This record gives sequence, structure tokens and C-alpha cells, in this order.
Amino acid sequence: MEFSAFADRMERLEAEPADLETTAAVAALFVRADDELATVTRFLLGRVFPAHDTRTLDVGPATCHEAIARAAGPNVGRSDVEARLAAVGEIGAVAADYEFGGQRGLSAFAGGTDGLTVAEVDATLRELAAADGDGSESRKVEALFGLFNRSEPAEATALARLVLGEMRIGVGEGTVRDAIAEAFLADRGTIPDEDAEEVPVTYATDADVSVVERALQVTNDYGHVATLAREEGVDGLREERLVVGRPVQAMLAQAGTAGDALAEFDSVAVETKFDGARVQVHYVPPDRSPPDGSTPAEGLGPRLYSRNMDDVTDALPEIVEYVADRVDVPVILDAEAIAVDEHGDPLPFQEVLRRFRRKHDVDRMREAVTLELHAFDCLHLDGDDLLDEPLRARHDALVEAVPDAAGTLRIADDAPTIEGIEAAALEAGHEGIMLKDPAGAYTPGDRGRSWLKRKPDVETLDAVVVGAEWGEGRRAELFGTFLLAVRDGDDYQPIGKVATGISDAELAALTDRLEPSVVDGSGTTVSFRPEVVFEVGYEEIQTSPTYASGYALRFPRFVGVREDKDVDDADTLDRVERLAEGTDAGPDRRGDN
Ligand code: AMP
Repeated sequence: MEFSAFADRMERLEAEPADLETTAAVAALFVRADDELATVTRFLLGRVFPAHDTRTLDVGPATCHEAIARAAGPNVGRSDVEARLAAVGEIGAVAADYEFGGQRGLSAFAGGTDGLTVAEVDATLRELAAADGDGSESRKVEALFGLFNRSEPAEATALARLVLGEMRIGVGEGTVRDAIAEAFLADRGTIPDEDAEEVPVTYATDADVSVVERALQVTNDYGHVATLAREEGVDGLREERLVVGRPVQAMLAQAGTAGDALAEFDSVAVETKFDGARVQVHYVPPDRSPPDGSTPAEGLGPRLYSRNMDDVTDALPEIVEYVADRVDVPVILDAEAIAVDEHGDPLPFQEVLRRFRRKHDVDRMREAVTLELHAFDCLHLDGDDLLDEPLRARHDALVEAVPDAAGTLRIADDAPTIEGIEAAALEAGHEGIMLKDPAGAYTPGDRGRSWLKRKPDVETLDAVVVGAEWGEGRRAELFGTFLLAVRDGDDYQPIGKVATGISDAELAALTDRLEPSVVDGSGTTVSFRPEVVFEVGYEEIQTSPTYASGYALRFPRFVGVREDKDVDDADTLDRVERLAEGTDAGPDRRGDN
């Protein structure tokens, strides 16, 4: 498929207002994608690699801007691109405005002079992701320059957005899921014409959509599922199994009370809510060959994945050792890593984050912060996928797999029992309790009602840091106040400023951390690319004309950086509205529709 055909589709999708038409248009794109279906599906979601793949492009905005500047000609520098970006606000539009191709002679080096294909863009980006070591930055610029230099405006837009992982076309995961079902499972009769004015809408049945959803949950790869749906239909999709070593999306919880749980479940499974960082543990012991091909052929040393499926194995050696020592069958476990003091009592969540993504000084930090594994679910045990088993059975499997690290699951039928367990959990220094449906399945990525979280603390909000003000006096070299925003579609709406609760040392660390994200600045204020998520406490959410969101946080206080969350996981304006109205049941996810 020509990359220009893909890019034109993106342009049209961006202009498409209604959801159903969007789904039909995406389905039509899938039907025409031929050999590149998997790639097109991933590109559409702004990805080169599947979600379970821990590889990333690792192309920062500076690299992308530099490549655009070079392709735009000798008179354009990176600072010109960045100045336009500050004015226009979006890199796709900036890239489309330059006339590329003036460097034709040079582009011969970079792959040819014909039109780009989707396959070629994919191959170049994958190669670029593998670039490592000395000179890798300039090789990345060179490779991207080669692509931009051969791009027409719509292609340049799609390419710039893809490289920076933000397609901004209003096509979420839910739309892609529905479109896969519609393209390959629905009885659609005719496929819409490329240029048809009206795209006929053919609905997939709910059953078809759930088969696709299920395959997505198990494989965590939209590209693969799209191809499988086309090649093997419903039967092929149903046969997909978990693979040890391929992380799945974490199941999520909504906020809820003991009363909610008692009303919704026959009886309530109560667990401690550990205040740490989520880890998904994958392990195949060295001497275990797979019982049925569902696990890798050879032993797989313990692999640990964060909630966002980053590979955090190297940062958590004691958990790796613990798993390798104690577990003797292939497993996938869902767990929380928590920091403990010398008595084994839990420490605040921030302590875990000092360890979590660390690449350097792992051994030194291991001495400073001790981590423990508390497992609460078992997705796979010795060749058996357990996603559809009820929680009670999965918990039995968990106890079998890691008796010492398995959290306790207690069944309660009345509020006083639940409150007693909650009081004991808080007394022991934990964050709260989880209330789960003992009969519920494990649904990866889903924030259903079968897991409820109950925290006594005032609610906190996970907000994106979009700006800051420099401090004053002895703090003039540091950011002092941070502007917070919540997600609103692809945009961010400011909701307040936070300066309280941040120590001098934290301010210094945050300044170092955020300075590279500055996109614009004047006087004492700067704005940031949305990259970092703060957890903030507050007393109340008020309606307010001060901020574009229409709301303001009253007495916001900094709780910590949510290292485990991407900006895509931050809270939404819809949620803020619900919190303000007192009707909230938990955060929204991107792609929900
Ligand atoms: P929150 O981060 O406030 O949305 O709460 C949900 C998180 O609580 C999960 O993502 C887990 O990381 C964590 N958690 C701690 N203990 C448990 C447990 N027993 N069951 C499920 N999740 C837990």
C-alpha cells in the first residue's frame, strides 16, 4: 500500500465527525490494506510495535524536528521548526507546511525517489528503533530525513505524528476493534468504493465485536488480530491463547464502597489494596518444556512488566530472584511491588517509584529501598489460561504458584465484616481494600465493575503537567508552580496550579525532569509538551471561569509523579465534571467510547 493512500485516509478520518462513519471508514481502509494490514492497523493507533512489545522508537521531538528542518532545505533550522510549532501547536500541521523534496539528490541515499510505501516506512522506523550507541541520534535523524524528504504534505503530517506517537485523528482503540469486526466478520455484502461519497455502514454484531475484543485482550496486538480476523475469522480469533512473556493489559478497578459491592456481587472477595506499583510477572522455569506450545519453548527467566507494559525486569532484581527461587511452573501473575521498611511495614508508594524504572545504580538503590512482591491474581498456570476462570479459582492457582507472596482473599457477606478488614488493612499501613466479584473473570484492559477499589483518602486526580512558573529568590533557577491539565479528547484543559507539598529536593528533580519538555516560554512562565503526570490531592473541585476547563481544584497539593502512568492514562475532563457533581465511579480510559 502506498503511504500516500494511508496518509490521505488519515486526513479524511480527521475531518470525519460522526463515530459510525469513522468506524465504516476505518473498516474500508482495513479491507484495502492487503499485505500491510497489520502495519496499517498499528499506524492508525500511532504505533509501530504492538503494545506488548517493549521496543519503542525512542525518537524525541528534537530528533523529529531536526529531520523535518533538514528535509525543508538549507535555510531551515530546527529552531525554525520549533518556532512554527509554538505558533501552530501541532507537529503534523507544521510538517505539512514545508515543501519537502528539494533535497532529492540526497534522498537517493535514503532509499530511492519513488513514492513511499507503508511497508517501507515501517521497515525504516523499525530499523531506526534498533539504532543504538555512538552516533545513533544522527542515524535516526538521517533515516527520518530520508522519509520526510520523500513526503507530500499529507504524508509528512502522518509521518510526524506517527513518529511522535500521536495520530490525533479521533480513532481510538474501541473504534479500531469495531472496525476489525465490521471489516472481516460482519456480513457486509459489498465493500465501499474508495471514492464513494457515502460509505455504507454495516454493523458487526455484538458477538463479533466481543470475539475481537477477547482476541485483543489475549494477544495485546491490534495488527495481529486484524490479520487473524481476515485470514481465519471467528474460529481463528477464538483459538488465541496467552503466551508467557507477552504482557497483557492490566485489569482495572473502579472506585466503590462496601455497599456497592454487596449490592452488585453475591458475596464479596475482599483483598488488601497494596500501595505500590503494578507488576505483571511472566516466568517459565529453565527445565520446563511447554505442555502444549502455549509457553516459550525454552525457559524464560522472570520478566516483569509495568502497568504500561514497559519491561522493568532489570530494575527489580530481588523480585526476579524471588520468582526464580520459588516458582517451579510456567506462570503469568498480576501483582504489586511495594516498598517496606526494616520491619516489613509498607512505605509510601513514592518509595517504590525510586526503584521502578531505574536503569543505573540499581544495586545501590536496592540497598536503600527494599521491595516485596504481593501477588493478587494468576492469569496462567502451567499451560492453563485462567482468564475465564472465576476469581476464586484463579486465587487458588495463585496460592499454588506463590504461596508466600499470594495476598489473602477473604469472602464477606456483610458491611461490618468488610469494614473490619478495611480497618485492619489501614492499621497495617496499606492503602485500602479491593472489593471483587469472586465469580468474576479477568478482563485485561477493562475497567469493569467486578473490581472495586476503596480508599479512605480524599480522592486524588492524575493531571498532566502542561506548564510552570519559575520560582523566585533562591528558587529562581527552579520551577516553582506547575500548571495542571486534564485530558479532553486529544487536547488538555487547564484545571489549576500546584505549588504546595513539593520539597526543595523534589523541585530540583522536577526541574531537571521537565526542562527538556519545554516547548515555549515567555517571562516567568513556560509551557511543556504533555509528558508527565502528577498525582494531586485537593479539597474540592469548583466550577471556575479562571481555567479553560471551566473547573478549578481547591487547595491542590502535590502527592507525587505517576511514573507508572502515561499522559494517556491521566484523568479526563469528563471525570472532573463527574467528580464535581459527585457522580464519579472512577477514571476514564483513552479509547473508551
Ligand atoms: P488506582 O491506581 O488507585 O486506580 O488503583 C488500582 C491499582 O491498585 C491497581 O492498578 C494495582 O496496581 C493496585 N492494587 C493494589 N492491590 C491490589 C489488589 N489486591 N488487587 C488489584 N489491584 C491492586
